[in-house]
Amino acid sequence: MPKPRRRYRRVLLKLSGEVFGGKRETGIDASNLKRIVGEIKKATTTGAQIAIVVGGGNIFRGATGAGNGIDRTTGDYMGMLATVINALALQDALEHVGIPSRVQSAIEMRQVAEPYIRRRAIRHLEKGRIIIFGAGTGNPYFSTDTAAALRAAEIDANVMLKATKVDGVFDKDPMKHKNARKYSKIGYMELVRNRLKIMDSTAATLCMDNGIPTIVFDLMKTGNIYSAIVGKPTGTLVYNKG
Ligand code: UDP
Repeated sequence: MPKPRRRYRRVLLKLSGEVFGGKRETGIDASNLKRIVGEIKKATTTGAQIAIVVGGGNIFRGATGAGNGIDRTTGDYMGMLATVINALALQDALEHVGIPSRVQSAIEMRQVAEPYIRRRAIRHLEKGRIIIFGAGTGNPYFSTDTAAALRAAEIDANVMLKATKVDGVFDKDPMKHKNARKYSKIGYMELVRNRLKIMDSTAATLCMDNGIPTIVFDLMKTGNIYSAIVGKPTGTLVYNKG
C-alpha cells in the first residue's frame, strides 16, 4: 500500500501529564494511555519520524511541591522523575501494540533508560523507532514544553505537535467562556504578548527563534495526530508571522 502523503517528515509530539492521567486526578489512566497509543499507531502510518516529550503533571509538579514546603529545585527534580515514569508507561504501551521505541532520559539512570544523546536519538528515528524523551531538559526551573521546544530544535523537527485537552488556541479559556474564539493561526509574538497560556513563553520564543511551527490540538479527537502530520487543518497553527 502506498504511504499517505505527509506534510512533516519529523515531528516532536508533546504529551502533557494530564493526558496520561486521563480522568484520574493523579497517576496513570491505563485505558486512556491505550487510546493515545492507538492514535500514535495511526500516526506512524504516515511514515513520519516521531519523537515524544512527556510531561509529568499527573504525578508531580515542582510548583505543587513548593506549596507543600518542598524546596523548588528538589520539587523540580521530583517532577522530572515523574516524567520518566510516564515515559516508561508509554514505552510499555507502545510495545504492547508492536511499535518499537526507546526512552532517553536527560537525567542519567542507566538501568531504566538510555541517556539523552542527540545523534543516537536521530539514529533511532531513522531506524523507524519512536523516541521518548524523559526528564525534561534535566534542569530545574524549566517545563516540559520548553524541553519539547529544545528537543525539537536539536533533532531538527519540522513541527511541534502540542496535544492538549482543548482544540487549539482561544482568545479566552474555552472551558470557562462559551463565547471564546478559536484562532486557526496565530503568530508566536501575539501568543506571548497576549499571554495566551497554551505554552509557556520560554517554549514559544525558543520555537520562534528556531523557526519551528507548533500545532496545538485536542488529543481527545480521534485522528488528530494523523491529521496534523498530513497537513489537514487541525487545531491552531502557531507560527512565525512575517
Ligand atoms: N521540570 C523541570 N525541568 C524540566 C522539565 C520539567 O524542572 O526541564 C519539572 C517541573 O517541576 C515541572 C515537572 O517537572 O512542573 C513536570 O513537568 P510539566 O509541569 O512541564 O508537565 P506537564 O504540565 O506537561 O504535565
